[in-house]
Amino acid sequence: MCFFCSCPWEYSVDRPSRELPAEGWEQIMEYYRYRGVKHIAFTGGEATLREDLPRLIRYARKMHYTTSLITNGRAVNSDVLKAIKENNVLLSISVPGIETFSEHTGVDNVENVLSLFKICREMGISTVANIAVTKKNLPELYENIAYPLLNGADYVLLNRFLPGGRGMKNTEYLLSIDETNKMLDIAEEVMEKAGVNGHIGTELPYCIVKHPDKYEKLSVGYKCGAAKNFFVTDPEGYIKVCNHSPHRVCRWDEADSLDLNDYWHRFITSDYIPQMCKECKHSDTCDGGCREAAHVFNGSIDGPDPCFELEPNFIEIKSPL
Ligand code: SF4
Ligand code: SF4
Repeated sequence: MCFFCSCPWEYSVDRPSRELPAEGWEQIMEYYRYRGVKHIAFTGGEATLREDLPRLIRYARKMHYTTSLITNGRAVNSDVLKAIKENNVLLSISVPGIETFSEHTGVDNVENVLSLFKICREMGISTVANIAVTKKNLPELYENIAYPLLNGADYVLLNRFLPGGRGMKNTEYLLSIDETNKMLDIAEEVMEKAGVNGHIGTELPYCIVKHPDKYEKLSVGYKCGAAKNFFVTDPEGYIKVCNHSPHRVCRWDEADSLDLNDYWHRFITSDYIPQMCKECKHSDTCDGGCREAAHVFNGSIDGPDPCFELEPNFIEIKSPL
């Protein structure tokens, strides 16, 4: 029950009421494969709560997908690990804090999570340390990145906390612009020392980054990839542009008509640039931050990124024009 969970269901009228059975997911995997999808990431919620996850992983391999699994690690048992190993799945494990782990998750098992990195290293499974950064765990971010790496993580994925889902009730943990820069600096420092690479998973507004050319180990993105580089299928089989999105675009078996869908089209054509960015010289390289977090937080995909909520005068102070 992580307090920062951005899974939009708790803040959406489209809350899934029942999950598709394994046969349904296998049908979807076939349908997408024949339309050119190459990679599947099993995520959630928590995908390991499904007992048929090893079956789905094996089916994805059978359909020649590359695969990854994003998990909190709690229900990763020997069957899941076997399927991961045999099918070359990239395992992304959430570590939202070391000292603050239980405050973030409600569960006191950071040692188990860290030992999972070790087990994976011994089994030859590649792992990612997946860290949601909040105001609460920022003071220990150095350790938060270092511990998983010391235990065998191969890569770092940092997600700044963005309100959505349960996180909408905990917006006080949103990072300020200064704190976001601190996050970038700390991450670069640890990764440089460890010789490990990583990236920021939720795109940033370019103008809030003080030293955009400084980061070598950490890759920072400014363009929203939703609908262009990936899309999401929710537990009931509805397509969304991103896992942060509260909006169902259509059912999976209607994907052939996505081009006619207005919401999808806005993402494909980047028709969501906030008013404050209209004249910006960086608009070719920056989409104004997370478009779906803006949607959840401000009610519109062309609203300002939530980071500007804390500092509404930021654009006037440091105009990128
Ligand atoms: S003003 Fe908008 S487009 Fe320009 S850098 Fe800032 S967030 Fe990006
Ligand atoms: S909506 Fe766009 S910017 Fe936000 S997390 Fe999804 S892909 Fe990234």
